[in-house]
Amino acid sequence: ASAQSRPSKTVLLASPRGFCAGVDRAIQIVEESLKKYGKPVYVRHEIVHNRHVVSRLESLGAVFVDELDECPDDRPVIFSAHGVPKSVPAAAAARAMNFLDATCPLVSKVHVEAERHHANGKHILLIGHKGHPEVIGTMGQLQAGEITLIETEADARDYPPQDPDNLALVTQTTLSVDDTSHLIDILRERFPTLALPYKEDICYATTNRQAAVKTIAAQCDLMLVIGSQTSSNSKRLVEVGEKAGADAAYLISASDAIDWDRVAQADTIGLSAGASAPEYLVDGVLAALRSRYDVEVKEIQVTKEEVVFRLPRQLLPPKKPAA
Ligand code: SF4
Repeated sequence: ASAQSRPSKTVLLASPRGFCAGVDRAIQIVEESLKKYGKPVYVRHEIVHNRHVVSRLESLGAVFVDELDECPDDRPVIFSAHGVPKSVPAAAAARAMNFLDATCPLVSKVHVEAERHHANGKHILLIGHKGHPEVIGTMGQLQAGEITLIETEADARDYPPQDPDNLALVTQTTLSVDDTSHLIDILRERFPTLALPYKEDICYATTNRQAAVKTIAAQCDLMLVIGSQTSSNSKRLVEVGEKAGADAAYLISASDAIDWDRVAQADTIGLSAGASAPEYLVDGVLAALRSRYDVEVKEIQVTKEEVVFRLPRQLLPPKKPAA
């Protein structure tokens, strides 16, 4: 077809989208460790839930494993951004391994909260998704029986407390803001003394990405969210988009996963990316759309993010001696 006859599409580009400060830091920890210690550097679990990120780090010399017992004693090992049960650093220390913790500081904050409430004699309720590594890590800050997972509305309604006046709540960081507040309402009604986090455990990046998607969703015939099937925050963005009025919303891993029949039927397309999806995947989707359509991109920014986290001590440059 000639350029003149190309159909046009409007893309509403959600902002903020893509990498958060915790993902940025985790990737940097792997890169800096490779520079400092040479290869291979071992990483327990996908450092962040994105295949493109993992493949790139593999090509630089990172070796991804599921468990610590797959790592040799004499090479550095990095724990992923999602956090790990206490038993993991303990096992690494027992083997005198050099381990670096890429747990996002906002996940560590939830770990500390759970421990603090436990130290105050409370039983902990954790709202989260069963089997997600962050949930495994947070539950693993305490002993079995000291923390209970609340996944669904039924869990919140049916949880049989031993001591209903001695409960505290923490949550996964990447949940749906709205679904979680619904579960919290149910729990608070049942347990009025339930201790809540000082400030929400759902992190700023999750909150902002959901807010941006919500803002554009009602105008979208189709919403595309770039992210992996294993990425909790990305899947929540799809759900938020659907609930907020997008006619249809899909998770796609990259431009090669675009369903062109669906695109053909949509005039206005919303585009976002989960916290573990690199921006070049967004560029790839826009380029693919431009290769077929006249595309007008409107970026809709709901807030600006300026969060940056420091690297672990082992990777910071040595302190200069005081003058
Ligand atoms: Fe940290 Fe939130 Fe990013 Fe998870 S999504 S790594 S909690 S900033």
